[in-house]
Amino acid sequence: MHQRIFAGALSLALAASAPLWAQDVTCPGGGVTIQGAPERATAICEATAIATDQLASCNLYVPDQITIEVTQSLPGNCYGLYHCEEDLIQLLPVSAYETYLDANPASPFGHLSPQVFFDSILRHELAHAAMNRTPCPFDGCPASQEFVAYTMQIYFLPDADRTRFETRLGEAGAPDRPITRDSLNAMILMMAPEIFIENAYRYFARLEEPCALIGEIARGDVLLDLPFQ
Ligand SMILES: [Zn+2]
Repeated sequence: MHQRIFAGALSLALAASAPLWAQDVTCPGGGVTIQGAPERATAICEATAIATDQLASCNLYVPDQITIEVTQSLPGNCYGLYHCEEDLIQLLPVSAYETYLDANPASPFGHLSPQVFFDSILRHELAHAAMNRTPCPFDGCPASQEFVAYTMQIYFLPDADRTRFETRLGEAGAPDRPITRDSLNAMILMMAPEIFIENAYRYFARLEEPCALIGEIARGDVLLDLPFQ
């Protein structure tokens, strides 16, 4: 009982002091708000502006109004989240990505610096935001969504980091193995996300006009998802 009273008092105290530590920062231009990271807000604003231009060059248009929150924890094993109803992106602090990268050097993004990894996850979530209005005939279209988000996360890495990713893919074997569109499906995404990421990028990188496909998926003209039987 004491504990419950104490917990209640603690959360009230935190709520009362919230404006002091959770200042919102509005980025230049006014449409993007950064929450929970006043000391990194300028860097996040710049990364958002760069990613928005990169995505636009690949037929993806990020909404004008978006909120980006840096939070200490996310559900499950998520590195980042996009909440479509609020146009809210949630990310972890750079230090959390540093811990993840140190513990997972063999992951597809294990060679990135924590800062580059942060920016790449931001770009991944902005790609989801750009697909907010993409029509989906099912409850969800995770294969289409994640194909676009992961390929954009990788394609717009700094050149040296993208080359390193491609080299690792080649070393992973069978670089010339053809990837069919059928293999970019939600089952592989769920069961073996790293294979999905590799398949997605191999498929994307081999297209003559990869951004044309991104535009077709974003408009709903091409659907990678299939109805579950
Ligand atoms: Zn995603």
